[in-house]
Amino acid sequence: MGGFGSGQWQQGKPLTSERMALDIRVMQRPSKGCGTDYVQWQGGGSVYVKFQDYVATVEVRFPSQASQRRVIELERTEPHFGGYRNWWKCPGCRARVGMLYWNDWRWQCRKCAGLVHESTRQTEDTLAYARVDRIREKLGWGGGMLSPMGGRPKGMHMRTFARLMRELTEASIHAAGAGADRIDMLTERLLKTRIPR
Ligand SMILES: [Zn+2]
Repeated sequence: MGGFGSGQWQQGKPLTSERMALDIRVMQRPSKGCGTDYVQWQGGGSVYVKFQDYVATVEVRFPSQASQRRVIELERTEPHFGGYRNWWKCPGCRARVGMLYWNDWRWQCRKCAGLVHESTRQTEDTLAYARVDRIREKLGWGGGMLSPMGGRPKGMHMRTFARLMRELTEASIHAAGAGADRIDMLTERLLKTRIPR
């Protein structure tokens, strides 16, 4: 059971859209063969990708002159309609993927980089809000994450109340997402809520 600052509830994972990404399906259409691609990100770096037979040389350049060059393996599949398709081989887990993300000075697949798609996060957020409401209902406080908190309902065991408070804290932090200011606000609110002994 995690408390503040621990575990999966701490904050939402960063989004795939928040990272520079290399989409091999766009960069290299079936059977396009060797070639060089260039991608420029707003406010970020430029990436030059040189495709060879079974590898691609990926060079990242930043305005600050910092740069990095890596050779990334490709994996080839042959669709039934002919030709072939190239895929990235994730340098981390070796999985065959269509997208690589720039994360912590490495190219990684979505899983290795610990990213989620926006739609996934929205679903997770919705579930987290629903969970907050469910716990609040059990406490007899009514729904709404930012609605006032009540005390321990009459007849509820102290242990049950403490458990529900812990669950509510975790669910609230999760629902608040990655915004550190919101987590601070929630922490403040929760610290103000005195648990009767
Ligand atoms: Zn990976």
